Amino acid sequence: MSAASRESIEAIFAPGGPLARTLADFEPRPGQVQMSQLIERGFLESAHTIVEAGTGVGKSLAYLVPALRSGKKVVISTATIALQEQLVHKDIPLVLRALDIPARVELLKGRNQYLCRAKLDRMRADRLVAQSGTMEEIWAWADRTETGDRSELRFAPRADEWEQLDADADDCVGEFCDRYKDCYFFARRDAARFADLVVVNHALFFLDLALGGSLLPPYDFAILDEAHQCERWASAALTATLSPGTIGRMMRRLHRQYQIPAEHDLAIDEGVRGLLQTLASVPGERYPLAANEKAFEALEFLQQAFYRLENWLVANWQAALKRPPSNVEEAERRREITLRAILGHQATIERTSLPDDEAISWVERFEGEGRYAVNSAPFAVADYLRTALFQRTQSVVLTSATIATGPAGPESFQFLKSALGLDEAQEYVAPSPFDYRTQARLYVAPRDCNPKSPDFAERVAPLVEECLELSRGRAFVLFTSYARLREVHEVVRERLPYPVKLQGELPRAHLIDWFRATPNAVLFATATFWEGIDVLGDQLSCVVVDRLPFPSPGDPLVAARLRAIENEGRSSFDEFMIPSAIVRLKQGFGRLIRSKNDRGLLVLLDGRATGMRYGETILRALPAARRVEDLTELREFFRADR
Ligand code: SF4
Repeated sequence: MSAASRESIEAIFAPGGPLARTLADFEPRPGQVQMSQLIERGFLESAHTIVEAGTGVGKSLAYLVPALRSGKKVVISTATIALQEQLVHKDIPLVLRALDIPARVELLKGRNQYLCRAKLDRMRADRLVAQSGTMEEIWAWADRTETGDRSELRFAPRADEWEQLDADADDCVGEFCDRYKDCYFFARRDAARFADLVVVNHALFFLDLALGGSLLPPYDFAILDEAHQCERWASAALTATLSPGTIGRMMRRLHRQYQIPAEHDLAIDEGVRGLLQTLASVPGERYPLAANEKAFEALEFLQQAFYRLENWLVANWQAALKRPPSNVEEAERRREITLRAILGHQATIERTSLPDDEAISWVERFEGEGRYAVNSAPFAVADYLRTALFQRTQSVVLTSATIATGPAGPESFQFLKSALGLDEAQEYVAPSPFDYRTQARLYVAPRDCNPKSPDFAERVAPLVEECLELSRGRAFVLFTSYARLREVHEVVRERLPYPVKLQGELPRAHLIDWFRATPNAVLFATATFWEGIDVLGDQLSCVVVDRLPFPSPGDPLVAARLRAIENEGRSSFDEFMIPSAIVRLKQGFGRLIRSKNDRGLLVLLDGRATGMRYGETILRALPAARRVEDLTELREFFRADR
């Protein structure tokens, strides 16, 4: 251990300390020091830790210092690629330099990110030339890549092309593969085994938990950043899905390996067609499977087709092989994997019949015709995480800019704790280094602006126009539905003297680039748009939100959470709806104020925020921005940043 790394946390973060000597613009922040001390105590005493640390606290350095000097195996999981890149390329090297310690650090991605050499070999043996321009580029890249990581490609390959080459588990025979010794994915996984710190994303982290720890090496401590998204990712990892996509992929795999009689394809095609027709007969983007009784018959038809396919494969797999295997073990492993995929689809169908206190099953419709999926998730994700994560890991750190749902106190993290099944933790809300009273304003529309009333769009359009005039564009105007978005846009579009775009006019990433690059831009989008978006400086100075962002009680997963809370005799509105809205609104503030120089206005067009008791509860939990009653007060505020 170096002298620097033996110093106290306080000394490491102090003016003139190791971090200040390494980072030119380092500023000591009390919240950062306290967060770091608490996390280190959690590591030493095997306690879990929850910290809310808003933008500007410097949360990544606060957890990296104790993690890197712990001498234990640590996994850090984040929701976004941007944060992973920042950790691996900037923050971790900085802390290692400051503490003058060596550490092996690995960034491990999901299997599907890596190229499978065996599939590439087979494809090239079958064809002299690539079947498309993009495939030709992938082949050329495959000749020079050292990592096999698809993020090196300068374009996003089509899903159906990349699946022919990815290192998916359902195509991999592991140690029986001829390319196992130089396999990109297994090389990274082995490196992770010997690393001190492994950086992953939430998808991989929770999938590893769902698979009983078969993807990541064993670890002592886990740090989950952007923890407000953990419930969603945990639920996704535990959700079984059946769709034309999953079935098609399985059948294509089967066909690559076996000569399959046409009757199986015909039966499965017929089953999929019947299922799609049935699913389309009930309207909605997401609806409970139970709302469509006929869907169970269609699923039963498919189930029978899967049984027949399974029986045929068990009896005929050897004779039906398309190419001789390199060895018997490989062929047997392949058969096992294929059977596992068929059995997986059967199990998903079986799960849809479980009672609703065991599993939640719902239908989801995606963009495009006929794109449906049947999903089934366990009813209690929290119970699963309690045993699989919190009882098995010495110390788990949950941190995010937006996870506290009330003023600092014993209840601040109750929402997150009950969602994730965390019973006991040390807790801390780090004070923000920003002066919200000076830097931010909050305007709430008059009480009679009720999003439920039919003239809402007409009523709020002049307010939207006035706010955009004051902020000189530079705004996101966000709605809970496309219909409402279009209604308000229709009223104001002719009158706005700023460049305006609507969500959907460009792909999301291009829309954000357009917004960043266009002076005085205004973007009309749906409420989920603000998650994970970073617009620095005064380019984004105003966020308008049409209504208090309560989750939709009609959503099957939300409905299940509400039911679970009500079943225990508690109020699902107080314990779920209100905290969810708080987290979403805090994210809005987080988008606006990214530095000490940022200034911003949050506009809530929902008058219920002042007219109803719950509105005040929500507003009190937001950063302490100055409330303005009269929009003219904002002239002075925005004049200052001209
Ligand atoms: S070990 Fe698996 S992923 Fe790696 S090259 Fe072989 S089949 Fe592909």
